[in-house]
Amino acid sequence: MASIFCVANQKGGVGKTTTTVNLAAGLAAQGQRVLLVDLDPQGNATMGSGIDKRQLARSVYHVLIGMASVGAARARSEAGGYDVLPANRELAGAEVELVDLDDRESRLKAALAAVADEYDFVLIDCPPSLSLLTLNGLCAAHGVIIPMQCEYFALEGLADLVNTIKRVAANLNPDLKIIGLLRVMFDPRMTLQQQVSQQLVDKFGDKVFETIIPRNVRLAEAPSYGLPGVAYDRSARGAQAYIHFGAEMIARCRAPQAHP
Ligand code: ATP
Ligand code: MG
Repeated sequence: MASIFCVANQKGGVGKTTTTVNLAAGLAAQGQRVLLVDLDPQGNATMGSGIDKRQLARSVYHVLIGMASVGAARARSEAGGYDVLPANRELAGAEVELVDLDDRESRLKAALAAVADEYDFVLIDCPPSLSLLTLNGLCAAHGVIIPMQCEYFALEGLADLVNTIKRVAANLNPDLKIIGLLRVMFDPRMTLQQQVSQQLVDKFGDKVFETIIPRNVRLAEAPSYGLPGVAYDRSARGAQAYIHFGAEMIARCRAPQAHP
């Protein structure tokens, strides 16, 4: 059975997609069978995995509205070594169409059940909102990974996300928990970032992942080549950090209290 994790933060541009794509590639590099689900109409995780979002016959949109199975809609990221349930701007329409459908929050969960045995990890890249799409991600998942930049306003908005996660856990998905906060785009030369990083550890303890993802230009360059950073330049510091994060996730999932 796959461990299913949402990468979520309703703030824009905090590193959700970079984290989903590179964790997927980092886990695949360590022999894990991975499915990446792109739940963002921007389709950045799709493109960043080397799959052209303009050429999709079927996508996660068709899966959500019941027009395709995951098996029929998934594609292979050859560069990343994992499967992708891709997305493009059609997905924006799902938001509206889902409102009239039964079980509108749990459609992704139901669809993923059919392939859960084929993967060790399913990673869901959420859009920057607490929308019905994100809700589908949270309903389908065992846990949430929250990427954060160590900035002055880092904690702003976190309370909303935590409340949403608690509400989903209480009403729709009792399995759901916060797996951890991931410090990303970290620049150790900046005193403020070090201070905020320490505050996160003081406040959230072992809910803060040990791995820290540095700011690294190779990670930012990789999507323009349709490659995960881990495949584009594996020796770069950013890629190495995501491989290390993959190992940390594997270890956490093996720990009995962490596995749902
Ligand atoms: P959105 O909310 O729009 O979906 P996001 O949270 O998915 O955004 P990303 O797209 O992953 O964020 O990252 C935002 C920008 O920061 C991108 O240009 C990305 O290449 C860059 N970036 C992400 N992580 C790093 C890093 N560790 N080092 C350098 N650049 C990074
Ligand atoms: Mg994104």
